[in-house]
Order: sequence, then C-alpha cells, then structure tokens
Amino acid sequence: MELACLDLEGVLIPEVWINFAERTGIEELKATTRDIPDYNVLMRQRLDILKENNLKIDDIQEVIAGMSPFPDAAEFLNWLRERFQVVILSDTFYEFAGPLMAQLGYPTLFCHKLEIDGSGEVTDYKLRQPDQKREAVKAFHSLKYRIIAAGDSYNDTSMLSEAEAGIFFKPPDNVIAEFPQFPVTRNYEELKDQFLAASIRELKR
Ligand SMILES: [Mg+2]
Repeated sequence: MELACLDLEGVLIPEVWINFAERTGIEELKATTRDIPDYNVLMRQRLDILKENNLKIDDIQEVIAGMSPFPDAAEFLNWLRERFQVVILSDTFYEFAGPLMAQLGYPTLFCHKLEIDGSGEVTDYKLRQPDQKREAVKAFHSLKYRIIAAGDSYNDTSMLSEAEAGIFFKPPDNVIAEFPQFPVTRNYEELKDQFLAASIRELKR
C-alpha cells in the first residue's frame, strides 16, 4: 500500500505566521523555517514576540479564521485522496489549523499542540516528538506502507529523505540548492504528475 504524506503550510495553505505578521504589522513574525532552520529557536522567538506585544490566542485565531487554503488546494487534495491514503504531517498546531482544516474537508492531520494559560496567553508549545515528520514516515514503514512525501521547505527534508520518494512543491532557491536530489514542482498539476511518476501502482488515467 502507498501512503501520501503532505506538508501543510506552503503546500495547501499559506504560512500562518506570515499572515498573522501582515495583519499585526510585526515584521519579526514573518520569519519561518525558510529563514531559521532550527524550529525550536524559531518558535521560542515567536512566543517571545507574542508576549512582548500582549497578543493572545484569540487574536491569532481571529486572523486564521479569515484565511483560506490556496486556490485549487481542496481540489488537489481530493484528487490525491482518490489515489492514496493521505496524511498531512505539519509543524503547525491543532489550535491554529482548525478553521483551515474545515475548508479542506478535515483531512488527517498530525501536528503539534500549544500550551495556553487561563488568560489566553500562549505560554509554551509541545512538539509531539523531535523530527516528527521523519518519525511518522518511519512508523508508517513499520506498518508496511510505501511513502511518497511532498513539502516546501527545510522542515520537510528529513521526511522527504526517509520516504521512498520525496517531492518539493514551490521551494525557495536556497533549499533547492541544498537538496538537489528531490524533483521540484511549481503547481498542483506538476505535483500530481510527480506523485503518479513516483507511484509503483498503475494510476495513470
Ligand atoms: Mg511548509
């Protein structure tokens, strides 16, 4: 059996933190794993900025509720789900993803969890486990699945490496240069083609 593992932000939905930064006008919140590859350093910086600006979970969720998946993301996801079992592996948090998952028909999502105190302040975050995208692929291998994975950035590269086939979707140039082994796709039609090319099953129709 083949499983498709998909990144979320940058593949199906915009970067949540960048959208939040634009609404609040806080430039430092625009940093992503594209800029700071160490996810823990990046998250600590984000939580510090939220605290400095007295921004609560309600403020963040209000912004997210106004966001939409990329155009054609839901159509692409449906196409993929007709052909593969699909699991989204994301470094976002369940508290952030909810409204957008509703717009995508609630696909299976493995991600992290925030810690929020009684006043709504985001006090900490709980990663399910270190390098969870790679660990998930390893776990699926132990269940005898063959994995085709797609993502857009640094935090996907261990998942892409662990999978039988890894595909980039609209990655930044520095990531392409560092990981030339993965095919690069620029739109959903190209991504579909790469999934079909990577599949060992006869899926073309
Ligand atoms: Mg991403």
